[in-house]
Amino acid sequence: MSKVIDSVSAFMERLVAKNPSQPEFIQAVHEVAESVMPIIESTPAYRKARLLERLVEPERIIIFRVPWVDDRGEVHVNRGFRIEMNSAIGPYKGGLRFHPTVNLGLLKFLAFEQVFKNALTTIMMGGGKGGSDFDPKGKTDNEVMRFCQSFMSELFRHIGPDTDVPAGDIGVGGREIGFLFGQYKKLANRFCGVLTGKGLEYGGSLIRPEATGYGSVYFAQEMLATRGESIKGKVAAVSGSGNVAQFTTEKVLELGGKVVTLSDSNGTIVDLDGINEEKLAWVMDLKNVRRGRIGEYCDKFKGSEFRANKRPWDVKCDLAFPSATQNEISAEDARTLVGNGCICVSEGANMPTEPEGVDVFLGTKILYGPGKAANAGGVAVSGLEMAQNSQFYHWRREEVDARLQGIMRSIHENCVKYGAEDGFVNYVRGANIAGFVKVAEAMLAQGVV
Ligand code: GLU
Repeated sequence: MSKVIDSVSAFMERLVAKNPSQPEFIQAVHEVAESVMPIIESTPAYRKARLLERLVEPERIIIFRVPWVDDRGEVHVNRGFRIEMNSAIGPYKGGLRFHPTVNLGLLKFLAFEQVFKNALTTIMMGGGKGGSDFDPKGKTDNEVMRFCQSFMSELFRHIGPDTDVPAGDIGVGGREIGFLFGQYKKLANRFCGVLTGKGLEYGGSLIRPEATGYGSVYFAQEMLATRGESIKGKVAAVSGSGNVAQFTTEKVLELGGKVVTLSDSNGTIVDLDGINEEKLAWVMDLKNVRRGRIGEYCDKFKGSEFRANKRPWDVKCDLAFPSATQNEISAEDARTLVGNGCICVSEGANMPTEPEGVDVFLGTKILYGPGKAANAGGVAVSGLEMAQNSQFYHWRREEVDARLQGIMRSIHENCVKYGAEDGFVNYVRGANIAGFVKVAEAMLAQGVV
């Protein structure tokens, strides 16, 4: 065991030296390295092929200038990125994030996570991620369109349905995907499945908008079932109020649970009466059509409370669905959740729990589903969208939903296969090893490329 710990330390030391100022990337790699090093140490072929060293080096990084003109005629310059991380098991696949915090290290963490997540889905998809430090908040539709067109004017030459297939992430939803697709089609003179998350009218898949949120609740259902529990009658804290949070809430309600929180970067709304279907419909209109802030909920629905600059984690709950962004649960938050009786955490966001928080969840042996397993439903249905596009055909809603449920079940089974420790499932280890083994075998078969 101490040889494994030494190997992880030596590997991380080299990684940090080579990638300074990329804390999220270092954090994501560290977790995976701890999980997979015992397998690497005991498999000479993996060691000899330097698989881990190759996995942390993106196959290609594209960085480009994105100039655009606002409605007043002023010129702005943003930075665009696409990280093509690993294509061992399929074309690069992963979302685009438009947010002021976007930088190279942040996208490398997301691209790295995506490689393992995509492998878990069982669909042929490699890993990638991209985006820009552009902030869509407060911009008009026309400004967003001009930005997206400028972004795609460079990106289009690097992507394609068999090469690299971007999708949405924070700040990139249906509106942005539409503008990006329009510009791709114009420049490439090709109508194809080059992006996922498209509108239904032009090749999108049913259930894609719902998929990440629904999938994370399906994953929670699977975890709860291992202890004879279910969603019914449980109180859930959800963070975020975007696409993932909205459809997580919808599915929890449908399965008989009660959701008492939502949040955004300004604070948390707490509604102990429960956010019912009618209130959720209002939130969806607020966020997706009027593009307002979640705090407005408390002006509309009396009896609810707005907690400025607070996260939901001190609100008593049985289930927690972090669905906002990375590092939103600290060790203290994790202790508060467990202390208040939370029995299950299913991560709709990517890496929302800090490493010390993960240690709290694993140490107390609650049901803890890390993002790369629990939120894989989104990219899984993106994979189903690619399959439908390649047939020039679309599947019924029930069919896509059934496939999504099947995929979440198989991800859960794989986590159990690799993560079972007497009477407890370590889903972190399970997800990391299951994802790693698939990609590692493909890399070995393909030689040193
Ligand atoms: N951005 C989502 C994720 O983090 C979806 C990516 C995709 O559909 O390609 O997995």
